[in-house]
Amino acid sequence: HREARGAIELRGVVLAFGAVRAIDGLDLDLRPGEVHGLIGPNGSGKTTTLNVISGYYRPQQGSLTLAGAPLPAGRPALRAPQGIARTFQTPRLVGEATVLQNVMVGATVEGRSTFLEALFQLPRQRREEREMEARARLALAAAGLAGLADVRADRLQHSELRFMEIARALMLRPAFLMLDEPAAGLATEEIKRLGALIRAIAAQGTGVLLVEHHADLIFDICDRVTVLNLGRELAAGTPAEIRTHKEVVSAYLGG
Ligand code: ADP
Repeated sequence: HREARGAIELRGVVLAFGAVRAIDGLDLDLRPGEVHGLIGPNGSGKTTTLNVISGYYRPQQGSLTLAGAPLPAGRPALRAPQGIARTFQTPRLVGEATVLQNVMVGATVEGRSTFLEALFQLPRQRREEREMEARARLALAAAGLAGLADVRADRLQHSELRFMEIARALMLRPAFLMLDEPAAGLATEEIKRLGALIRAIAAQGTGVLLVEHHADLIFDICDRVTVLNLGRELAAGTPAEIRTHKEVVSAYLGG
């Protein structure tokens, strides 16, 4: 894991698209080793929050820090060295490449090149490639896909692709992992496996932000939950606090 073991902190973050304030003064803390659920109705700012943290958007107001140091906005790849990885709502893949290759791609964004590395490029590359492959196989095993490593990615089922996405993100050994609706389209049994995988990732010290519609998954595995409404925090607390929170129940959980 990375040297940065501190929290990601958002303070008073505002992000507007024209007149629409997608995020309107949000405070949020993501801590190492914790699973933080982000829920709320459609359009409440969940994906935008994830995109701000992963560097797609620069907040127009407020601050975003990791271990107390500002996280500059930038291409998402630039976030990787800082240890923030993500998955997408729609899995991304190279269909003709193997599952293993698709996962190994996750490490290349790390792209380091020092003078010494350049000097010993060839042996270094081979060793790195072996190292990368070993890491990818471990990530695939963790994601329950060990047996599919050498299959073409376009042969995978939807649920397998979702697990492949997570394996790819793990290649970065991220300090923080942002998951955008990872349970979408999964069957109950697969959601259980997903929950176990996310808990295992957090147990390694990675902080997870989980944007998800499946309330059961959120309440089962999260340490803390933030409920958004109109780009603001409607409530925040433990799953037990959130599932009994009056406003949340009436506005969102429909109880
Ligand atoms: P959620 O993920 O909770 O469904 P979003 O973060 O996607 O919510 O969207 C929050 C608000 O910002 C919505 O009103 C949405 O229409 C708007 N929005 C999101 N992305 C864009 C964009 N790229 N351009 C314009 N408006 C956007």
